[in-house]
Amino acid sequence: MSISGGISNSALEAGENGFGAFQLFTASSRSWKQNKPDKDDAALFSDYLRKYDTVPFSHIPYLCNLASPNKDVFDKSIEMLRANIDNCNELNVRYLVLHLGSHLGEGFEFGARNIIRAIDSVSKDLGKLTILFENTSGYTNNVGAKFSEIATIVNGIGTKNIGICLDTCHAFAAGYDIRDKGSLKAMVDEIDDRIGMDKLKLVHLNDSKFDLGSTKDRHWHIGKGFIGEKGFENFFSEKRFRQGCFVMETPVNEDGNDSSNKRAFLKIIEKCGI
Ligand SMILES: [Zn+2]
Repeated sequence: MSISGGISNSALEAGENGFGAFQLFTASSRSWKQNKPDKDDAALFSDYLRKYDTVPFSHIPYLCNLASPNKDVFDKSIEMLRANIDNCNELNVRYLVLHLGSHLGEGFEFGARNIIRAIDSVSKDLGKLTILFENTSGYTNNVGAKFSEIATIVNGIGTKNIGICLDTCHAFAAGYDIRDKGSLKAMVDEIDDRIGMDKLKLVHLNDSKFDLGSTKDRHWHIGKGFIGEKGFENFFSEKRFRQGCFVMETPVNEDGNDSSNKRAFLKIIEKCGI
């Protein structure tokens, strides 16, 4: 949900559209500079959360790269993370989604060490906030396309305020065929055995514009991409995905919008008897 015109607008729009959960950036998504929320706007945001009974999840801007070998980028990323933690706590947002970034060729071990160091350095400021690591699409040098990699990082961090966010498009692009019963079960077992399904706090429900294993992070309308309606029916056949919060990060264009994606989602879960 957009925060243009004020952070409170995101909660208002989610509420007016009947969404029980939504995602927002708490400051500019394109700039290193992260402003603090305006006090009146923050109060209005809280009022709307209560009024519409909707759950906010925040997402850190894509510039943030805690795996970076570039010291300037790494330092700015920690600063951005701190600003986002403060904003979330000010707005009573309990979850902050974080991409694991790119090690730029230095290797997974290097990237993982940097991320662990970064999170440990801010962990005492988390308060009631939990950081959710999101799986990535497997593009060159990305950290966290495999849940085994995310497990190494989660298990290396001292704080308990860590969880994960599963993005269906990214998983599919990284080679997890969630359309197939056996592959889906293997993925869920990997998450459960290495991290624990109780750590999964959010699903980014997105179809994929490109085919299995493409490593391309291109979200598409629910049911209209390569995962497709049947693929999502298979996804929801897994009992462990039948509850929790789901957020769509689908495009708005001539092929669809938030309403059409919501309808597609409801049709799928109805077919699954949920
Ligand atoms: Zn996502």
